[in-house]
Amino acid sequence: MSSRIASVPPRRVKVFSPWDRLLVPPLERPAQDDQSLYKRIIEGSREGLVVVDADGHIVFCNRAAATFFGSTPDDLCGREFGFPYADLGEPASIEIFTGGQPTFMEMIAAPIFWRDGEATIVHLRDVTRWREAEAQLGMQAKALEAAANGILITNRDGMISWANPAFIKMAGFDVEDVIGKSATMLKADAGDDPLSDAVAHLTAMNETWKGRVVNRRKDGSLYTAEQTTTPIRDATGRLSHFVTVLEDISDRLKAEDELVRLSEYDVLTGLPNRSVFMDRLKLAIDRAARADASVAVMVMDLDNFKSVNNTLGHDVGDALLRAVTQRVQKITRTTDTLARLGGDDFGILLEDVTDMAAASRTVRSIVNAFHKPVEVNGQSIEVTVSVGIAAYPQDDTDPLALLREAELAMYQAKSEGRDAFRYFDKEMDADIRRRVKIEADLRHAVDQNQLWLAYQPQLDLATGKIVGAEALIRWNHPERGLVSPGEFIPIAETSGLILPIGDWIIEEICRQRQIWQALGLPEMRLGFNVSGVQFRQRNLFEQVTSALQRSGLSPSSLDIEITESVAMEGAGRVQENVDRLTAAGVAMSMDDFGTGYSSLSNLQAFPISRLKVDGSFVRGIGRTKDDEKIVEAVVRLGQSLGLTVVAEGVETIEQLRFLKERACDEIQGYWLSKPLPPTEFRRFVESFTCPDL
Ligand code: C2E
Ligand code: MG
Ligand code: MG
Repeated sequence: MSSRIASVPPRRVKVFSPWDRLLVPPLERPAQDDQSLYKRIIEGSREGLVVVDADGHIVFCNRAAATFFGSTPDDLCGREFGFPYADLGEPASIEIFTGGQPTFMEMIAAPIFWRDGEATIVHLRDVTRWREAEAQLGMQAKALEAAANGILITNRDGMISWANPAFIKMAGFDVEDVIGKSATMLKADAGDDPLSDAVAHLTAMNETWKGRVVNRRKDGSLYTAEQTTTPIRDATGRLSHFVTVLEDISDRLKAEDELVRLSEYDVLTGLPNRSVFMDRLKLAIDRAARADASVAVMVMDLDNFKSVNNTLGHDVGDALLRAVTQRVQKITRTTDTLARLGGDDFGILLEDVTDMAAASRTVRSIVNAFHKPVEVNGQSIEVTVSVGIAAYPQDDTDPLALLREAELAMYQAKSEGRDAFRYFDKEMDADIRRRVKIEADLRHAVDQNQLWLAYQPQLDLATGKIVGAEALIRWNHPERGLVSPGEFIPIAETSGLILPIGDWIIEEICRQRQIWQALGLPEMRLGFNVSGVQFRQRNLFEQVTSALQRSGLSPSSLDIEITESVAMEGAGRVQENVDRLTAAGVAMSMDDFGTGYSSLSNLQAFPISRLKVDGSFVRGIGRTKDDEKIVEAVVRLGQSLGLTVVAEGVETIEQLRFLKERACDEIQGYWLSKPLPPTEFRRFVESFTCPDL
């Protein structure tokens, strides 16, 4: 039995011979003398040659064939060949395993006479490298198919020969629409064909072309793509194709445009923002410098925007800002710039101002335009504006300085009663510089321990005992010494600095109260002043109750002084804070009573327990009958509402007696003591004995 060389499975296949169907005539028998020559050719051939007899046994095998099978010709001769040859002349593929690695063979069989009999000559060629290359190509083709970017292959003349699915999707065409068509069909505009430029360039330079193109989809819509086109040359170096990769960047461009728009325009009003305003101001100044003209810079602020926002809500506030924008736009010329500088601040730039009278007319119209209420979401809102003006070159030549000066003038208009406009002047500058400086310094005051609390005692007129004290803030300014709260509290309120300062006051009061308690000072109520801003923007309830908890104090040890204007605001956050605080047992006092215009009904709606008569009326006792009447009335009012009445600013014994006669409950003032630093306050309380009143 001869062994088989084929590793084909033992499946029964018909091993047919090329002699079965003679399509090609067999080779002539060679002449005897040529034999050794032929033998050399055959032995030297890189192609494997095997002769298989009619029984399927190998009768000859050259060296190349033996090597393919990992054997020698002698060993192979006589063994069964075993591979099924395919049709004559048709190549078949076989796989041979020698040493684990498969070798791929292409096999072609042909009939041959062999030693008087019919046989088959089998040609074997190693096609492993080919197969690998083919597999590689297959993979690359799949990658191109799956790529996220659109890929197009065009021939030398720009005819599309292949397109991947991503391209088909991007361009909205079907494959049949594009194959065989010129790539110019993709362009937005037939006349303008960047691809043909690219192709021309590429043909000449053999480089990759990169650029941005605008193409048209099948439905007519346009898209912008980033295109990379690379020339492909064949084996002989001739340009044969172009590969074009396209990335649709329309969405990205849209997002970029949107970013630019957002960075330059205010979303709410659609107006240019501060940075655009400054750019235009710079340009306007340059132009005016050349033309010897003037530029007017205006800053406009709404007078009561914050209270609209707080009482009617931010939606109404936003709608108001839009309505204001429209109203001002009607007055300004198209060449003027109206911008939103931030919050409720608007900037107006008037160019080509020949005389300031023209600017005056414009600004007057703007201020007057707000003497009619603004209709917002069906409600009519009374809003007035304050405007400040600075001019180039009269006031300054620097754009930033001009804007600042216009701002200062606007603040001046506000401080002089609002609903007005003011021109910038240098004196105004000095005053406002001071305010700005205070604000800047105040920012560090808390951190640098420059703030402290003074305590002014309060006397119960019936018992002659110190029953409480009011904490009053003091600021030791490193250069200016003691700054009065009357000067810096309003600045702290408008700048928002009152929030961190207020936080500090609450902590400080509780800390001080704990120390005094530990030192055995008699129980007393500590009052402190709270601004409206704190009620609106802080969760005062949380803040006070947690400070009380931390220091282990009872809520009745604190008393919060609020002003009439805060009480009148009533609704929303303020009311909520007040209700929760009083429910928790923290008392409220109405401070400076009589200076505001609060009505009785406002007072009743508010859960206060004490009424503080303003010192300005108290000081009039013994001097003006009017003040005496007011004090008398306020005391009576407080009593009728069941409130404790406290008189502030009591400086003389006469004032005290007047109050005592009218059964005022408590007094506070210089007659008793000035506000004192904590240590002095403790000594004062410890040594206090009430004189005969
Ligand atoms: P206020 O709450 O009405 O405080 C009473 C003011 O009258 C204090 O002024 C006090 O020193 C002064 N005063 C007391 N007795 C007399 C007197 O017999 N004669 C005279 N002429 N004045 C007297 P001060 O300390 O300058 O505070 C002024 C205002 O600043 C306070 O008025 C209050 O509205 C505000 N303020 C003070 N401390 C704070 C604080 O901690 N937070 C807040 N938000 N405001 C505060
Ligand atoms: Mg007070
Ligand atoms: Mg007061």
